[in-house]
Formats: sequence, C-alpha cells, structure tokens
Amino acid sequence: MKIQDIHSQPLIEVGILSREKLDFVLHSSHKVIGYQEDGSERIEYGSVPQGSYSCTCEDGLIQFENKTFASLSFEPESDSGRFSLNNVRIGIEFHWEQELQQCFEGALLIKTENKHLLAINRIALERYLYSVIASEMNAEASTEFLKAHAVISRSWLLAQLGTNIQTEADMEKKADSPPMGSDFRPGQAAAVKPGAHKTKQTDPKGQTERIRWYEREAHTLFDVCADDHCQRYQGILEAETPQVKTALRSTEGMVLCSDEDICDARFSKCCGGLTESFESCWADTKMPYLVSKPDRIPAPDRNTYADLTSFILGNPPSFCNTDNQAVLKQVLKDYDLQTGDFFRWTVSYSVEELSDLFKQRSGLDLGLLSDMEALERGGSGRIVRLKITGSKGSLILGKELEIRRCLSKTHLYSSAFVVEKVLDKQGNVRQFVLHGAGWGHGVGLCQIGAAVMAEQGYTFKQILEHYYPNTQIKKLYGF
Ligand SMILES: [Zn+2]
Ligand SMILES: [Zn+2]
Repeated sequence: MKIQDIHSQPLIEVGILSREKLDFVLHSSHKVIGYQEDGSERIEYGSVPQGSYSCTCEDGLIQFENKTFASLSFEPESDSGRFSLNNVRIGIEFHWEQELQQCFEGALLIKTENKHLLAINRIALERYLYSVIASEMNAEASTEFLKAHAVISRSWLLAQLGTNIQTEADMEKKADSPPMGSDFRPGQAAAVKPGAHKTKQTDPKGQTERIRWYEREAHTLFDVCADDHCQRYQGILEAETPQVKTALRSTEGMVLCSDEDICDARFSKCCGGLTESFESCWADTKMPYLVSKPDRIPAPDRNTYADLTSFILGNPPSFCNTDNQAVLKQVLKDYDLQTGDFFRWTVSYSVEELSDLFKQRSGLDLGLLSDMEALERGGSGRIVRLKITGSKGSLILGKELEIRRCLSKTHLYSSAFVVEKVLDKQGNVRQFVLHGAGWGHGVGLCQIGAAVMAEQGYTFKQILEHYYPNTQIKKLYGF
C-alpha cells in the first residue's frame, strides 16, 4: 500500500465468526439490505426493531425471516447502534482459547461460506483500532506505549488491505452496488482458513523438507479476522479507556513508512532479547525495517550474541527481560498474565509423548523420535529449519510457526529453543526437554520490551525507531 492511496479514514470488514446458525441481538433499530443472488439487485428489506434474531444457512444461501438471501447487511439507524454475537471464540488453538459474548458497533454483514454463515463487522478504522489496542493491551498502559502501538496497528492494517480499501464517502457512492465487493460469490471458499500457507517442499539429497509459513492473505470475504492471526479484536469493550482514546487521537492517521510504502509493522509479545528478521518467519524477502537486533539500548557488541545456544540458555539483559508485574499488567490481559515464563521457558516431553504429538499435529509418521537438530536459526535464535529424526525416517520442518504448531498441543511459545535429550542407561533417548526464549515470532516491535521502554521514559517515536529501523512516521489523515 502506497501512502498516496489514502486520503481519509477507511472502513474495514472484520470477520468475527462462522456458524451454521447465527444468533444475534440488535440493540437498536437497523436497516436491512440484502442481495438475493450475486450481482442481483439490492433489496431494501426495511427496518427491523431491536431484539433477538437468527439466520440459518441452506444450500449456500441465508434464510432470514422466511426469505432467502445471498448476503445481508444490518446497518444501525443511529450512530450509537450496537449488535451482539454470542459464543465468539478467541485464541483459537492457542493456550488461552475461550468463548465470550461480544458487542459491536458499525454494521453487521452476513455472508456464506462452505454451508456456514459468516458474521462480519464493518467499522471505521480508528474505532476498530481503539478496540484492538484496548483488547491487546491493558488500558492502564503508559501513553507512549499505546501511541506506538496505535501507529503500528494502523500501519500493519493498511499495509495488509492493499488497494481494496473503501472510505465512508465511497460507501455512499456505491450504495447501489453490492457492499461485498464484485468478487463475492455465495459459498465462495476460504474466508478463515488457519491452515492456509505457503509450502516449499524440496528434496535435496533425498531429504524431505516441509517449509511453511502462514500469511494473512487467506481471507477473501473480509479484510481481517478478529483473532491473533490478524489482530485480536473483541468489539466494544465494557469500559471506555481514556488512555487509549488519547493515544489514538494524538496519532490519528499516523503510519510508519519505508519510503512511500506503508510498513508491514509486525509485532509480537516478547522477542526474548533479540528481535527476529522477517524472512526467518515468512517469505524469503528481506525487509529493511524488519531486521534482527538486540532489544537493548545501547546495543552491545555484535559478538555478545555470537553463540545463540548460550544466549537462549542464558539470562541476557534486555528491555523485555522483566518481571515487573506492573509493566506486564499493562501489556498482558488477565488470561495472558497466567503465562509468566515467557522470557525463558522449558517444556518437557517423554519420547512417546512427543512422537505421538508430532504425528497427530503434522500428519506425518516418523515413528519413535530419536533426535531433533536445529539446522538453521534466525538472528533471534528462532529455529527456521529443524531436522526431526525418528525410527521411520526424518524430515526438515520450518518455519517458526510450523515448528511451534507441530511440537505442541496448542503452540510452543516460540521456535527459539535448545533441545536437551535425556538418555537412559542404555543411551536411548527417554525425554526431550526444550529450553526456550520469547513468546511469538519476535519480528518487529516486542510488546513487553516496548512497555518497559515507555516506563523508562522513551517516547513513542524513540520506541518505533528502536524496533523499526530505517522508517519514517507520516500522517495520512486527521487533524
Ligand atoms: Zn486473520
Ligand atoms: Zn524483546
């Protein structure tokens, strides 16, 4: 996305959930607009009063009040209009997975996908960001940290949207055309596919490699999902948080740029002491601002981190090496605070346990595992290519998320780990102990490190400069 493509605040579409039957509550009157078929005429269904409603999916179409539609939108008739969805799952497949009831502002769009109904929330970007930042972080976080986060959340989103953005002005112009975009087809595939990925399967020297990375471009029916795959979005939050509002207002329309491009400003919970470079986690493309560097100012001598094994096994000083509960509370919600051991962590498996787990998670049977060896590590120590050997063969697995996914029931905290093999008296491996560092991919801003920086008096500009070298801050819209 180029900065000159954006002149006013865009509207974005957030995929919230997918169900065979959708139950929702409208808290005020909403205007209902439907399309009976793709490309067909828009039907002004009229206004519906506040109350509970439901839709079902039949033959790939939406049934609503005994009528059939290909897509529907419920638009609030007042600015304060709200709707609620029940049983919204968050943290899908991660250790904090749970279901919540959530309330949203803006429009509710319903589309169909693979015999399921998709609930989508269309909302103005700055309001979406308000929720994302307050959902991702405790609202008590310091202002400079929240401002830094506002800029990167906005940049990341705009960078992902590509050229398909719509503004409120566009919406008015396009009132007579389908709101879903011209490529919308009822039953169209692949809106939320956590398994969507790029795979690079090579076979040098008879060795099978499965190198995968997971990209956001899996979404076709909406812009972003509401889970950690994109950015965690929980609709309207119970308490309004003036700190987050202030952070958004004072950075309104500001993005991080690399020349004329809006930065793909990635971030994660805790880098572990060194941030990771983009190409260690995703496509083999170097990004000038997503490079590996120490999470410290001033940066120590390069040789300090020459040995990544002792770095991971050690306790190096770093912004994110903190047990300051007050700071951690700023960044982590209650359910995340249960994860206390993010900077350095340990996970142990018996050989049988890990062999079964790997088979189940990867769909590949290597028999009883006997060895795991890091063939390639990124700058932060995260393993990019891991050789796994078992009684039935071996495999090279990558990149970081695929490794985390295949070696844990949920996900390992990170792929920066050192493997310790515990042997029995006969010299057979009995146990694998993984000694790890950091939480998440480690690329870009380290949330815990950034919160500590803000606490130490760094400004949001200094924080962004530290985590995204070679970038500038530009203002696209707002006052
Ligand atoms: Zn997503
Ligand atoms: Zn860090």
